[in-house]
Amino acid sequence: MSDPHETPAAQAGPPETLDAVIVGAGFAGLYMLHRLRGLGLSARILEAADGVGGTWYWNRYPGARCDVESMQYSFSFDEALQQEWKWSERFAAQPEILAYANHVADRYDLRRDIRFNTRVAAAHYDEAAGRWLVRTERGEAISARFCIMATGCLSAARVPDIPGLETFRGTWYHTGFWPHEGVDFTGRRVAVIGTGSSAIQAIPVIAEQAAELLVFQRTPNFSIPSRNAPMDAEYERWWKSDYAAHRQKARQMRTGILYNIDQRSAMEVTEEERQRVYEERWAAGGTAFMGAFVDLLTNQASNDTAAEFVRARIRATVKDPATAEILSPRNHPIGTKRICVDSHYYETFNRDNVRLIDVSRAPIEAITETGLRTREAAYEVDSIVFATGFDAMTGTLLKIDIRGRGGESLAAKWAAGPRTYLGLMSAGFPNLFMITGPGSPSVLSNMIVSIEQHVDWLTGCLAHMRARGLARIEATREAEDRWVDHVNEVAHRTLYPQANSWYMGANVPGKPRVFMPYVGGVGTYRQICDEVAAKGYEGFRLAPAEAPASVAAE
Ligand code: FAD
Ligand code: NAP
Repeated sequence: MSDPHETPAAQAGPPETLDAVIVGAGFAGLYMLHRLRGLGLSARILEAADGVGGTWYWNRYPGARCDVESMQYSFSFDEALQQEWKWSERFAAQPEILAYANHVADRYDLRRDIRFNTRVAAAHYDEAAGRWLVRTERGEAISARFCIMATGCLSAARVPDIPGLETFRGTWYHTGFWPHEGVDFTGRRVAVIGTGSSAIQAIPVIAEQAAELLVFQRTPNFSIPSRNAPMDAEYERWWKSDYAAHRQKARQMRTGILYNIDQRSAMEVTEEERQRVYEERWAAGGTAFMGAFVDLLTNQASNDTAAEFVRARIRATVKDPATAEILSPRNHPIGTKRICVDSHYYETFNRDNVRLIDVSRAPIEAITETGLRTREAAYEVDSIVFATGFDAMTGTLLKIDIRGRGGESLAAKWAAGPRTYLGLMSAGFPNLFMITGPGSPSVLSNMIVSIEQHVDWLTGCLAHMRARGLARIEATREAEDRWVDHVNEVAHRTLYPQANSWYMGANVPGKPRVFMPYVGGVGTYRQICDEVAAKGYEGFRLAPAEAPASVAAE
């Protein structure tokens, strides 16, 4: 298993000087580098992995694929790229998405400015110089005017703190750092811990190989069939016939995904009509199910009808009624935890070699030499798959020792939850940007749409600064406070905060319970960001390099 937390040792040297350092070579970092080059800035990506792709580099578990259709889960910034690239399936699998990331890196000649196998340990702001000193785990140092964190929202994989893992004599894996050579489960007794999106994709594939598969479920999730299939030539033609216009529409949608949202409330139609609409969405597959009615995430009664529809589908699919009941989510409104998209997930529980173990009341207490022990029973297995998720949105950033003005640490500032202005910057940390940071739509959206929007906005901002001889930008505390309040207020107008989700930090013991992404919608958010820019970057303080903050232009 490749360990994501180790980088090879190297000699320390004098700081290299650049205009910008980008941390991370996933889709965000790659596109950011491309745009910075376009501005004529010197920039380098520092990347912990030995390749590009981020999420799609690390998450190589069986069944991994996107849940936003590939025609949309792809870059839109270059018409030639989007016309020439051919996706083989409606929802591409991980190897194909990784191949795409590699193609992008090669096509735009990005590799020469990426330093792989390089994990960033610290980033400290030098106020006098107005520069960031970025240090790697190997002790290399880079001094840059701008530091851009493209570190990903779902890149700090979490193995839960269950005692005894070191005593386990079998093999164990985490979906978020899967061995590159793959894993052959043939003949093995396998435990999968978790039933989130990763598990729901992996379970049907592992079940086909393993001698026996035990699924340890603490909380059931709602999952919609993907209806994945080879790419339909007619559908592809439709997209490519006017790609730019379709993308433009997608950018205005709440989720950044182009699909039809029924503008009616689920409560204003008859029971018969509701069922018809749900059946139609279920048959079409994918996350568009949540667009069945406009108020599914804001009206509990409407949400209940969609949730009950899915529970009925689970009962109709899973032959054993007791198993069907355990698989039926009842503790959160549908969609308030990230909705899952699967290929034959519920059907998998009809196999003789698959068993569901409910650990909601009898938690896993220990890993033993030969398997797992819950409060009620012991289970012998040869392999354990942790599909236990991530310290999402803030975990990766806060692993880096980030210090801003006056040596203030970002971790200390965010101790009660992340504080940002627009999810782009945090007050007190001049010239430090986040791509899809907390407080932006990020994980509630088609993330490539949100990545492009942030990178484009930031490119415009840096061009604006250069044109005016400005070298420093910082969010004001007032703008940040207003934005944090707004993010909270909008979240609490929805059903989202009712779920113990990773959106709320609820999956990490001790993490503050704050709703982290912005639910206002991708289109609305883009408009807000554009207005901020049009008003001369309202809420940011911009200054020439040497000007003290007190004389800086507001
Ligand atoms: P990442 O792809 O996470 O890249 C961040 C990079 O930063 C990584 O390569 C990491 O190694 C590097 N890094 C982090 N810290 C450091 C450090 N200290 N030093 C150096 N390098 C560092 N989103 C969708 O919209 N649709 C989907 O279908 C979808 N499917 C997903 C499936 C899975 C299994 C997962 C985990 C996420 C999925 N997502 C999906 C979300 C996905 O993370 C984003 O779509 C997108 O890939 C994020 O790109 P990124 O560049 O922002 O971050
Ligand atoms: P996740 O949604 O956080 O799911 C983690 C699972 O592990 C949950 O079922 C959780 O149960 C369980 N778990 C954690 N600790 C446990 C313990 N000690 N004992 C028992 N169960 C435990 O993580 P994920 O599945 O990796 O997905 C994370 C996000 O990545 C998704 O929400 C999505 O945004 C993205 N993703 C997308 C796709 C896709 O379809 N394209 C695929 C994978 C991931 P509780 O719910 O009870 O905490």
